[in-house]
Amino acid sequence: MIEPREPAEPKRRPLEQWAAEALAQLEHHGLLRHLEPLESPQGPVVDVAGRRYVNFSSNDYLGLAADLDVVAGARTTAMRHGFGSGASRLIAGDTTAHVSLEKALARTFSSEAALLFNSGYQANLGVLSAVAGPEDVLFSDALNHASIVDGCRLSKAKVVVYPHRDVGALGELMAQHPGRRQLIVTDAVFSMDGDRAPLRELAQLGAPLIVDEAHAIGVLGPNGGGLCEQLGVHADVRIGTLGKALGAFGAFALCSKSVRQWLINKARSLIFSTSLPAAVCGAAEAALQAMTPQRRARLWRNIRQFSAGLKAHEDSAIFSVILGRPDRAVAASLALREKGILAKAIRPPTVPQGTSRLRFALSAAHTEEHIAMALHALENLPR
Ligand SMILES: *Cc1c(COP(=O)(O)O)cnc(C)c1O
Repeated sequence: MIEPREPAEPKRRPLEQWAAEALAQLEHHGLLRHLEPLESPQGPVVDVAGRRYVNFSSNDYLGLAADLDVVAGARTTAMRHGFGSGASRLIAGDTTAHVSLEKALARTFSSEAALLFNSGYQANLGVLSAVAGPEDVLFSDALNHASIVDGCRLSKAKVVVYPHRDVGALGELMAQHPGRRQLIVTDAVFSMDGDRAPLRELAQLGAPLIVDEAHAIGVLGPNGGGLCEQLGVHADVRIGTLGKALGAFGAFALCSKSVRQWLINKARSLIFSTSLPAAVCGAAEAALQAMTPQRRARLWRNIRQFSAGLKAHEDSAIFSVILGRPDRAVAASLALREKGILAKAIRPPTVPQGTSRLRFALSAAHTEEHIAMALHALENLPR
């Protein structure tokens, strides 16, 4: 009789091996990340893993993500257009819902034209790689969002990173790096610190200005048009997301009609990707309607309460409590969870080394009690 052979130790496939090594490295440095699905609708109070938390980690600044008018906007439009969009916009994926939303965006935010993108990430990739090429120079703030960093890289332009908000240094760098064309790109409100770009001074440097208003649309400006609107600054392209204050999904560029036409012909993230479902456009258009001054006033009441408690600037709806090492930020985040507060630890590469932090994003939907709870928990945080 032939003895059955021991089954050989299954050989690990290379990708499995590499994954295991990379994950072990991240774990060692306190940088391993996990997904945590919400069990409730998005909002100021959410359920995670069977527990209820007051949520300070969403960018739902106006409390529109689960608003029933926004949901109804999606539903009505889906009933008319179906769900899947079927193709890219230039092929057969454009609908009257897309065009209607673009008109509403241009009107609401006082722009000659608007162009939809599938997300803010894709808007930055598409816009930056369309407007700049290998002979050009893109000047980018050191703390710009990752999607701007990636868009700059994809453009193959020379990228000159200037010190955060330092217009003097930028002026000197612009003199040192002429190139065929120069463009400046910046966040309006910086996503991790919540501070504002010096847009007036940047505009005065004379180069075309691209401003990412992701955290300023709906939050700043008399009509919620962002920091450019608030300061009366003209940017050549303003990028906004529909996924944050507007509680929907997708993004847009506000620009002139000719720049819009240029982007339609050059922006690869728009040309080579299936368009947004019409229902998403319907939701976003309903959100524009629901983006009332009253909601913005409620958000600002919360911002004032929180900033007074923290003795911090009231620049935006974003507040960071910097803790340094990643393990300290994770420990602080867990301590807050014990008190019923969800404020996720933000670690490199999202923020620079040594600046791991708790990031709080406020919403118009938070109550005075929610804000007081967070402040109280922070006072008693073990440091
Ligand atoms: C969130 C964010 C984006 C990406 O927008 P999405 O629509 O979420 O892809 C782009 N820029 C900045 C500054 C952001 O904070």
